[in-house]
Amino acid sequence: MQIEINAKRLLAELETLATISEAEPPAVTRVVYSDADRRARAWFTSLCEQAELSVRTDAIGNIFVRWTGSQPELPAIGTGSHIDAIPFAGSYDGTVGVLGGLEAIRSLKESGFRPQRSIELLLFTAEEPTRFGIGCFGSRLLSGALGSSADEDLRAGDGSTLAELRAGAGYTGPIAGVLLPQNYYAGFVELHIEQGPLLERERVPIGIVTNIAAPAGLRIAVEGEGGHAGAVLMPDRKDAFCAAAEIVLAVERSARGTGAIDTCGTVGTCQIHPGAVNSIPSLVQLQVDIRDTDEQRRDRVLREVKEACDEVAARRCVSVRVELVNADAPAESSPQLIDAIERSADELGLRSKKMVSRAYHDSLFMARIAPMAMIFIPCRGGVSHRLDEYASPDDIATGTRVLAHTLARLASE
Ligand SMILES: [Zn+2]
Repeated sequence: MQIEINAKRLLAELETLATISEAEPPAVTRVVYSDADRRARAWFTSLCEQAELSVRTDAIGNIFVRWTGSQPELPAIGTGSHIDAIPFAGSYDGTVGVLGGLEAIRSLKESGFRPQRSIELLLFTAEEPTRFGIGCFGSRLLSGALGSSADEDLRAGDGSTLAELRAGAGYTGPIAGVLLPQNYYAGFVELHIEQGPLLERERVPIGIVTNIAAPAGLRIAVEGEGGHAGAVLMPDRKDAFCAAAEIVLAVERSARGTGAIDTCGTVGTCQIHPGAVNSIPSLVQLQVDIRDTDEQRRDRVLREVKEACDEVAARRCVSVRVELVNADAPAESSPQLIDAIERSADELGLRSKKMVSRAYHDSLFMARIAPMAMIFIPCRGGVSHRLDEYASPDDIATGTRVLAHTLARLASE
């Protein structure tokens, strides 16, 4: 079957979406339920309606765009991604999967293809953790990884709850209704930029994700004793920041110590109290991200970090509190879906490469309720979450073409 992607239309839409931002272009800031997020959703919904697709929104704003197949009683084939963006981000993370998904469906329609299974495009609410400190809460709720207590448990920085914020954005109704049944999707395929350097480096246009690494998050609070930077003598100090520095290095040591390239440990934030040049730090708060494709190996690193915290606390006479914020299970892609993507790429004469996703995605959670796989396209320098994030028009069109072929194949099975 000949499926022609309208790359011009897709690229123009990506450009338009990038202008719907709270930050000055070319930077994109689109935090969930913000004014920009709501404007982007309204614009996206109108595109879907123009394409004569039916649109449904759930109680937290996940948007489902359905092209009904000839056998609507069969579980659908899903695709999709997110449009929320961290502050001062670029314009391709997530958006390529949403607008590419829409383009894949439109081009299938225009080419005369008629699906047996319905094909559904899903716009996930809030993949990024910017607002609630937890990533993927849309797909977590869809897959049951989070329950209805999230309404009160999830809080934004200003203390407002998910319940308040979603109502403010116009999304009401019981949160329990967000959960999808196990057989809702026969398969779910997400198109996304790689956010890593491998495809570009090896000049391969298509990555096929076999595993998604599992992140675990820790919040660590180190409490020592403050005081005057001149008056408290060195032997008498309980400097919280010096203790925290040892913990930071312990995270690095443990992550490197597994000997596996897939283990990563990062201390991404550090807040020092009181934060004055002539004052001994009394309280330091760290946020730690540890991820791996192997859950046991990752949990070993978590244990080592906790042991290091205890050791540092005892030796330096400070108190160290470690809170496990989340520890998600890694996901494996479905062999059938990997095969469907590989065959679609082959059919189009494209080289493809099987690879691990070290960043996590909504597909990590979709894997709990459906066979899942992801299609990666190269991005320049592997750069993401920055305003110079870039994927070439050719690569975007190629990824979308492979997605369209994969959806057609899966919707006919
Ligand atoms: Zn993303």
